[in-house]
Amino acid sequence: MSEAISGPGATGGNADPTHGGPRDPEHDPRASYVLEPEVVARLTDRILATTGATAQVHSPIDGAPLANIPQSSTEDVAEAFRRARVAQAAWARVSVDERARILHRLHDIVLDRQDEIIDLIQLESGKSRKHAFDEPMHIALTARYYARTAHRHLDTERRPGVVPVLTRVEVNRVPKGVVGIISPWNYPFTMALCDGLPALLAGNAVVTKPDAQTMLSALLGAQMLEDAGFPRDLWQVVAGPGRELGTPIIDRADYICFTGSTATGKIIARQAAERLIGCSLELGGKNPILVLRDADVERAAEGAVRASFSNAGQLCVSTERMFVADQVYDRFVDRFVARTKAMSLGVGLSWDADMGTLISADQLATVSAHVEDAVAKGARVLAGGQARPDLAPYFYEPTVLEGVTPEMTCFGNETFGPVVAIYRFHDEADAIARANDGEYGLNGSVYTRDTARGRAVARQIRCGTVNVNEAFGATFASIDAPMGGMRESGMGRRQGSEGIHRYTETQAVGTQRLLRFGPMLGMSDESYARMMTASLRIMDKLGRA
Ligand code: NAD
Repeated sequence: MSEAISGPGATGGNADPTHGGPRDPEHDPRASYVLEPEVVARLTDRILATTGATAQVHSPIDGAPLANIPQSSTEDVAEAFRRARVAQAAWARVSVDERARILHRLHDIVLDRQDEIIDLIQLESGKSRKHAFDEPMHIALTARYYARTAHRHLDTERRPGVVPVLTRVEVNRVPKGVVGIISPWNYPFTMALCDGLPALLAGNAVVTKPDAQTMLSALLGAQMLEDAGFPRDLWQVVAGPGRELGTPIIDRADYICFTGSTATGKIIARQAAERLIGCSLELGGKNPILVLRDADVERAAEGAVRASFSNAGQLCVSTERMFVADQVYDRFVDRFVARTKAMSLGVGLSWDADMGTLISADQLATVSAHVEDAVAKGARVLAGGQARPDLAPYFYEPTVLEGVTPEMTCFGNETFGPVVAIYRFHDEADAIARANDGEYGLNGSVYTRDTARGRAVARQIRCGTVNVNEAFGATFASIDAPMGGMRESGMGRRQGSEGIHRYTETQAVGTQRLLRFGPMLGMSDESYARMMTASLRIMDKLGRA
């Protein structure tokens, strides 16, 4: 446990309930000093909020209050954009090398202070420590990648001009201005930060509204950006319900980056369209795994556990549908179910648990309803299938279902929990068609010993990322690879050049020498047209694009 966080039940510090920190346990039996009030106050100080209202957040580990989060108003959002615009104007003049140097410093800070980050993520989300570690790791990978490739993405590029030698064309990458980022609770540190790093590198400022349940992890990220050397006003944080602050953010932003549910993504897209601003939408999924007849069964079973139960299934690229070839079905199911049943379940800040709790009562209600509905309509439970209030208030076991049919809710709807349905297939083309069924298209996975065949199958799966012999890490952790959804899983991509170019406008600058674009030296329009026709033919013969 890091020095910033004291153990549950530790005492001391300011107990004023209106100022950041948790309540005094002497007066509130539900209160605890899991977090030092000064730590909370330092974090919440980054929120631009003048309403005086607060919202209390609780840890899903034991229901203990963690902090009172100051709430922002529409005027606060307007002020955040005003400050961000001033900061952006100065930041756009900072060299790309200097911006990249600061970003690279974030890489070191995040690795050095990972315990502090992971503790806070676990306290806010209840996920296991190994799943929490994925978050600083993803930020370190993202910071390093963009810092090292900044020039590749942002330098002015020469392009062929219309008249060889005489027309010089350059394309500049101009920052959009102020980017609005609305992020979810499931990966509270990385989802609040990762999309903002390329925005900053490209010369933008950011106004961010993290999910209300996990503000502290997002605020720690904001603090670390400042520690790395990014000017404080370049990264504004506002807090409050998305349906109240979403519109004022979209009304002022030059670009919107949203990660969350497909339903909210459609609302955001409509509002962005109204203003003719761009948006990227990273949305939900109902992600398939295909285990082909020549798969290494043990490897597939190991991958399937990570694919289905990382962060208790509250992961956008998590697998909820598994299509397994007849020839290996029984062996695979046997190994997968055995591995699932062997998982250690629990909460707490040690590395012991393979899986932690769901984050909220809402999540528990959805997961329980999907499993109950499936069982009532005839699905068989091969593993799990129960809530575990003995472990934590919202805990649900990793659950494997067989015999799921289209009339069951969990057949086509995202559960966003630790529930996976297994289906048998005889014919590969049929398995691919079933994997492509439905509206989503985020992530897929193929297990086979023939990796070339795996890649050929991958091409036929209509998902934005497909992993061969891996659950999701091969694409997600390869930051040069674009990540995002097809169909109702989203628009636009994070990561790679796509992930930074979304935050820039291209500006073409053409410089014309000698030759004018029109008749010269007394030439008639008709002669000019004939001359141009002849030169177009010559250019074509020379193979020019
Ligand atoms: P959600 O859409 O309810 O909330 C996400 C964010 O949007 C929160 O910050 C919330 O406050 C805000 N919000 C809510 N209503 C809003 C509105 N009307 N206008 C503007 N903002 C609004 O999503 P959730 O349930 O919290 O997150 C889980 C979903 O996110 C799942 O569907 C999951 O698959 C998806 N997700 C996708 C990715 C990805 O990269 N594709 C990553 C993580 C989560």
